[in-house]
Amino acid sequence: MPGRNEGTDRSCPVCSGPLGLGDSGPDALVDALQASESRFRAAFADAGIGMALIGSDDRIIEANPAFAAMIGHEAPNLVRTHIHEIIDPEDNPRRLYLELVRGERDRLRVEKQLKHREGHAVWSNVTISLIRDGAGQPMYTLAMVEDVTEQRLLGDQLAYQAMHDPLTRLPNRTLFFERLNALFGPGQLGDAAGDLGEVGYPGDAGDAATEPVGAVELDGLAKLDGLDGLDEIADLVGLVDLPDLTTLPGLTGPDEASGPDDQGKRVGLCYLDLDGFAAINETLGHHVGDELLVAVAARLEHGFARGDGRLVARLGGDEFAVLVCDSDGSAQLTELATELVKMLEEPFDVAGQQLAVTASVGVVERRIVETTPTDLLKDADATLYWSKADGRARWTLYDPDRGAHQLTRQRLATALRPALERGEFTVEYQPLVGLADGTVHGAEALVRWRHPRYGTLSPDRFIPLAEESGAIVPLGKWVLEESCRQAKLWLLEFPEAETFVSVNLAARQIWDSDVVADVAAALKLTGLPARLLQLEITESAVLGPGGRPVQALQALADMGIRIAIDDFGTGYSNLAYLSRLPVHVLKLDGSFIEGFRDPAPGGRPDSRFRRTDADEQIVGAMVQLAHALGLTVTAEGIENASQAERLRLTGCDTAQGWYFARPGEAERIAAILREGRVRSA
Ligand code: C2E
Ligand code: MG
Ligand code: MG
Repeated sequence: MPGRNEGTDRSCPVCSGPLGLGDSGPDALVDALQASESRFRAAFADAGIGMALIGSDDRIIEANPAFAAMIGHEAPNLVRTHIHEIIDPEDNPRRLYLELVRGERDRLRVEKQLKHREGHAVWSNVTISLIRDGAGQPMYTLAMVEDVTEQRLLGDQLAYQAMHDPLTRLPNRTLFFERLNALFGPGQLGDAAGDLGEVGYPGDAGDAATEPVGAVELDGLAKLDGLDGLDEIADLVGLVDLPDLTTLPGLTGPDEASGPDDQGKRVGLCYLDLDGFAAINETLGHHVGDELLVAVAARLEHGFARGDGRLVARLGGDEFAVLVCDSDGSAQLTELATELVKMLEEPFDVAGQQLAVTASVGVVERRIVETTPTDLLKDADATLYWSKADGRARWTLYDPDRGAHQLTRQRLATALRPALERGEFTVEYQPLVGLADGTVHGAEALVRWRHPRYGTLSPDRFIPLAEESGAIVPLGKWVLEESCRQAKLWLLEFPEAETFVSVNLAARQIWDSDVVADVAAALKLTGLPARLLQLEITESAVLGPGGRPVQALQALADMGIRIAIDDFGTGYSNLAYLSRLPVHVLKLDGSFIEGFRDPAPGGRPDSRFRRTDADEQIVGAMVQLAHALGLTVTAEGIENASQAERLRLTGCDTAQGWYFARPGEAERIAAILREGRVRSA
């Protein structure tokens, strides 16, 4: 019979079992037997490959040193060892083993995990042969075992690495796109790439689908009955139930992938980006940034990953995505986005400190047949950008009308640096007016992007992007130089006026250690005296993410530059603390002034004006406190005469707003200086 060792040694090559070697004379037979046995014994003992002979009671009869070493034992000690001591009895006998039992095959090859004495797993390729007696009855099993742990681990690792982010261990971009493409039907990737669970995580052992295809028939079709007591050997070989090869649909385009023919299926995507992550990374160091990303990833995965239905992936940097593979509709997605934003608001314990972060989320939800993976991503990206532009820490649902008119965040961000080189930015100036006498004390420099296609873009559209991408550093430097140059021109034309320029500094610029050098260079280059430069910094930027004040502030103040806290009242508003820093000016946020309305008729306040009164009292108290602490106060957003008058009564020093002048060309400031006064307040 093909594949049988008929006519030669039918018994164990290493044990002296019954032999059926024909009819030579007894002495010759014994000699031949001894010679043969010692040859086989030497081959067995010296073999580089692990070998073990297993009896029908599932105990090892003999193992060679190579096998013993593989699992951390001495060969003699393995004798009588039950196979369950070196292999988990996790698998039930399966079809292939039963075929072996029935004699339909003589050998099997499987990949199997063995237990090393020290506890770790040893992956092995095991070839099992039945050894029969002269009558063809099964006697023993000979296992030949090859250690493939390294290849196996490498293979796992490569598959894992290709699909997962090494830092957070979340599915990566590749896996995300694979999954997304799979949703849109076969043909995109050519296989059932949607089955995320089947990409092996090390440690996911035990999932049959992650095991390499298990058993390969080598040879043997001998019919063999009466194999009792060998069931347990199935545990050793751990036979994997192979699908019937003849019914496999082929490796490409399995039928079960959800296709576009399913008209009603919907998909949803929450595309998330942490706010101000770049600043955290820069200020607290990359290791803290990394830890934060890991913590965010863990929270997202724990809260939102749901098997095959939902995928949480890290798309890069501080961008994450939650893909909802079978969405119920936009309400489900917006609910999810609400949870996302809320869940991330809880502070993170990172590197021994509490870090508060927020996230902006773009939400897109639609029928699969109406979109493509590319469009879904593009629109999610644009929507994320709207969330950022609308003030961060929020989600925004895709709005097709808005989408048609908006640039994608990506396009803007990448266009920033070249635009700076092409000279597409300009600075407008808005007067800062003394409330006591209506004269212009200085002007705030406000940058604009004269985009060749999209017209003039306001800083809210691109400053956050510039901060994230780092383009704020060259852009901010340019604004600084340009503003100093302008202020120097005002000084030359109106030496008496001492008009200062007030330049906004972004957090990232301040934490950049070069800011002091950059400012000094700008002053030197333009010849502007330091006393005519004011720098506006937000409260949160002064304190920094770790709550530490900025060292650079002191250096700048020592140079004679004035430091203003911008948008005061929107952050921590810790006046007592700020007054201990080298800060000179508070710029009250426009929201305080919004509540300043016309006084009540007849001068008697009624309930409708309580809000006004409260705002006035708050502003009044802040002004007094600031003055007591040696700070001057500027109010932003003054839009009408009444606000200006009420503000003047609070004792506020200077004001800025459309009532006096909108931001405009530098020449407007010169014209006002020539006139002497903006308006009488
Ligand atoms: P900000 O520093 O608080 O600037 C004041 C903003 O209020 C300006 O908006 C100004 O045009 C606007 N504004 C002035 N008067 C009124 C008013 O009466 N009513 C109302 N509703 N708004 C008024 P803009 O120019 O769009 O700038 C927005 C923000 O962009 C600025 O807020 C500042 O934070 C940032 N920014 C502008 N230029 C630069 C820059 O060169 N560097 C950096 N880092 N940030 C800048
Ligand atoms: Mg400002
Ligand atoms: Mg402001």
